[in-house]
Amino acid sequence: MEAQHQVNRKAARGWRFFKSVCGICVLLLLSLASWSAAYFFIRYLLNAFGSRPSDYVGQLFTQLVAFVTSMGIMGTIGVIFRDKRMEVFRPMIDAMKRIAKGDFTVSIPSDERVPGQFGELVESINHMAVELNQMEKMRQEFISNVSHEIQSPLTSIGGFARILQSDELSREERMHYLGIIEKESARLSKLSENLLKLTSLESDHHPFERRRYRLDKQLRSVILACEPQWNDKGIDMDVSLEDVSIEADEDLLSQVWVNLLHNSIKFTPAGGTIGVRLKRNGQQAVVFVTDTGIGIPENDVTHIFERFYKADRSRNRSTGGSGLGLAIVKRIVEMHTGSVAVQSVHGKGTTLTVRLPALPSAVAPK
Ligand code: ADP
Repeated sequence: MEAQHQVNRKAARGWRFFKSVCGICVLLLLSLASWSAAYFFIRYLLNAFGSRPSDYVGQLFTQLVAFVTSMGIMGTIGVIFRDKRMEVFRPMIDAMKRIAKGDFTVSIPSDERVPGQFGELVESINHMAVELNQMEKMRQEFISNVSHEIQSPLTSIGGFARILQSDELSREERMHYLGIIEKESARLSKLSENLLKLTSLESDHHPFERRRYRLDKQLRSVILACEPQWNDKGIDMDVSLEDVSIEADEDLLSQVWVNLLHNSIKFTPAGGTIGVRLKRNGQQAVVFVTDTGIGIPENDVTHIFERFYKADRSRNRSTGGSGLGLAIVKRIVEMHTGSVAVQSVHGKGTTLTVRLPALPSAVAPK
């Protein structure tokens, strides 16, 4: 493909050179013709009027008339060719106008009349339209996902608020419905918090303050902070942490561990086990968060880091997530030049592995 492009570019350059040489020849012929015409015309006029001026004056008149004639001819040719040149630009101008109006489906057909460098311009415009079209699709998909995520809690809040207006409800029923409204409001608030966080993280303007600290200590404190949740479900915590230090934004990474642990707790049935392991592997700190939960269906595994993606949607309704947690995890880990991967067996359990650059032991803080 690239070789073909090069051949085309060479041919276009050769063709341009040939046209330039022809252009110069035509200009020379035109000057010659105008000069000759002017010479004979002036001689004819002088003869007609019986005038015999000096050689100098004769030459002067001839030059003047030749100049005016050649200018006239070139001007006419220029106007004709300018219209022709504009014809080449017309599809590009039209395409740009359509793009400016938000129509990104434009595609300028590649035409051999388009000279070399303009051929590249056509390709660039087409490429830009494809990219903009893709971004527009992503924007629409994003709006539809957000609307959908907002719509379902709002519907249930509205429904239960209507039921609560009835006087015939017992105190228990009233408390039950109020509890649901509270839960759905918390879900909406979490959704907007996550959306704001993700947008901020993706904007490149999010505060990012690296400092050196012990990753094992951070993991231990996050596990302890989540104790009420895993304890409530009778989940067994299997923790094994080597002393590893990293240089990172502590708050951002804390969000990573919270999201991973919350997912493991959420998707692991009561009585299951969650393992958190930290190992040094050469220059890397490797964190494994393993659970004996519901696992992820094979087809969904590659998508779970996408925004709003939820595997097993029917099951997910009850867990109340919005599908943003792992997108946030991925973004934060990538900001630290690390990577995150998932391994899962549906029905058996899941392991999320985060790799981050580790500090050499010699410079690690105590
Ligand atoms: P959510 O807020 O829905 O948990 P996430 O982005 O954190 O959003 O996760 C996306 C999806 O990946 C979840 O809806 C779930 O289907 C799946 N998932 C993530 N972690 C686990 C896990 N530990 N076990 C099973 N499924 C998981």
